[in-house]
Amino acid sequence: MEDPTIAQINPFPQDVRTAFQAYIHSFSYSNRERIDYSKYRQLLLYLQNPSMKPANPIESRLKHRAQTEFMLLHNKLYYKPTARFQNPRCVILESDAFDTIINEHLQLLYAGRTKTWNIIQRKFYGLKREEVEFIIKRCKNCTLNRPSTTKAPLVPIISEQAWERVQIDLIDMRHEPSGQYKWILHIKDHFSKYTQLYPLKSKHAGPIADCFTQFIAAFLPPKIMQADNGKEFKGALLILLRKYGI
Ligand SMILES: [Zn+2]
Repeated sequence: MEDPTIAQINPFPQDVRTAFQAYIHSFSYSNRERIDYSKYRQLLLYLQNPSMKPANPIESRLKHRAQTEFMLLHNKLYYKPTARFQNPRCVILESDAFDTIINEHLQLLYAGRTKTWNIIQRKFYGLKREEVEFIIKRCKNCTLNRPSTTKAPLVPIISEQAWERVQIDLIDMRHEPSGQYKWILHIKDHFSKYTQLYPLKSKHAGPIADCFTQFIAAFLPPKIMQADNGKEFKGALLILLRKYGI
C-alpha cells in the first residue's frame, strides 16, 4: 500500500457528513440564527410579494421581520447589512450548512478554523463557529497534513505505465499574455514524458479543475498527481474529487 496522496483522498467522506447531521440534531445543539425551510419560504414570499397580506398576528410579525431584517439578492434570502457586518449575508438553510462550510474551507485552500470562520461569518447568516470547528477538525486532508516531526523517506519514483503518474505545474505567462490567457497548466506524463498544455485566464481552482476534467476525458485519470507548488492545485483537485464522488 502506497502512502496516500492528495489525489486519492476525499477530505470529507460520508461519515463526516453523517456525524455533522447527528451533531446538529442533538439535543444540546442550538443555533438561534438558523431559519427552518418553511420560515425561509415565507420570508422569501413576503419580500417577493410586498402587497401580500398576513392572515394572522403570527404571519404579521413574520412579514415585519422579513421587511426589517432581510432582503432579496438574486432572488435569494439575505440578511441585511448590520453595524458589524457591512455586506448582506446569504441565509443558509440547515440542508446547505455542511456543503457551504466545506466549500469555503476548500476555496480557502484548507485554511484553519479561525480563518475559515472569519470569512464564513461575513458571508453567511445561519452558520455557527462550532459547526465550522466540528467540520475542520474532521477534515482528512488537514489531519494528514498537520505538521509532524517525522518526514516520509525519499524514494525514487518509478512509473510502470503511461499516465499513471503525472507532473503538474503552472507556467506564469503574465509577462507576455496571449489575450486573456496569463497562465499555462502543464501536465507531463512521468513515464512517456508526453506533455499536455492548457491555457488559463487565472490560476483559480475552478479553471484548473476544468482543465483536469478535459485531461481526464482525453486520457485516463492518473493515479498520482505530483506538484511542486501544490497550493493552486489542492482546491482544483478537491473540486474534482467531489464532482466524481470519490
Ligand atoms: Zn481541511
